[in-house]
Amino acid sequence: MRKTLIVGNWKMNKTISQAEELLQRLLQRIDSRCPAEVVVAPPFTILAAARAQLCDTVIGLAAQNVAAEDMGAFTGEVSAPMLIEAGCGWVIIGHSERRHQFGEPDALINRKVKNALEHGLKVILCVGETDAERDAEQTEHVVHLQLTEGLNGVTPAAAAHVVVAYEPVWAIGTGQTATPAQAQEVHGLIRRWIGELYGPDTAQAMRVLYGGSVTPDNSHSLLGQPDIDGALVGGASLDVDLFCAIIGSAE
Ligand code: 13P
Repeated sequence: MRKTLIVGNWKMNKTISQAEELLQRLLQRIDSRCPAEVVVAPPFTILAAARAQLCDTVIGLAAQNVAAEDMGAFTGEVSAPMLIEAGCGWVIIGHSERRHQFGEPDALINRKVKNALEHGLKVILCVGETDAERDAEQTEHVVHLQLTEGLNGVTPAAAAHVVVAYEPVWAIGTGQTATPAQAQEVHGLIRRWIGELYGPDTAQAMRVLYGGSVTPDNSHSLLGQPDIDGALVGGASLDVDLFCAIIGSAE
C-alpha cells in the first residue's frame, strides 16, 4: 500500500520571515493524524530556519534543486551534503522549470539523481511533456525518455528512494489541469516502465505524483486514480487553507 505523498513546491517565493509564519500556521493543522505524508520544498535560504521549525514534526523538508558535484568551483550551486546538513531529507530534481528555463538536460539530471541518492537524499524526479510535444503525440516518447535517462544507472536498491512526479508542462501554473483520466493514463505507463526497469515489486512500491494546477477542486478526483499516489503542488502550496484542503482530500 503506497502512502499518499503531498509535496509543496514553493518555487522562488517567501522570505525567511514569511516562511516562518506559513510553517507555523501549517504546523497547527498537520499532525500525526494526517492522512498523507507531507513535504515542503522552500527556497535554499529558508531551509535552515525551516529545519528548526519542522524538526520533531511530521512534515518533511525538500530542496528544489541540487548540484551534481559535492564541492568545488561551481558558483551558485548547492550540493547534496550541504542540503543534508541544512536538514533536507528530500530533493526535487528535473523540474520542468529547471529543464526549460535553465536548460538542464537529462544527462545532468541523471548525475544529480545518482549523486543525491548516494548521499542518502530521497529524490523526487520530475518528468512531463510540453504543450507542443503533446500536440505532436510525443507524450509517451518524451516521458519515457526523461524517466529512463533520469534513472540510468540507478540501482534497484537506490530506486526505492525515488518518487516520480509527472508534471505536464502545459498544466503548470496555467490553471489547466490534466483530466484525471489523462493523468492516470500517463501514470499507468510510468508504473509499467518502472516495472520494466526494476521489476513488479518496485513498480508497485514506487509513488508517482501528479503536478500541474492541483487545487482542492481537482485533488480528490486526481488522487482517486489508481496510479496517482500524491501531488506536487505549486501555487496552492503557498496558501495554508488550500494546501491543507488538498492534503485532506487524500482521505
Ligand atoms: P502549479 O501547482 O502552480 O501549477 O505548479 C506545479 C508545479 O510545478 C509543482 O512543482
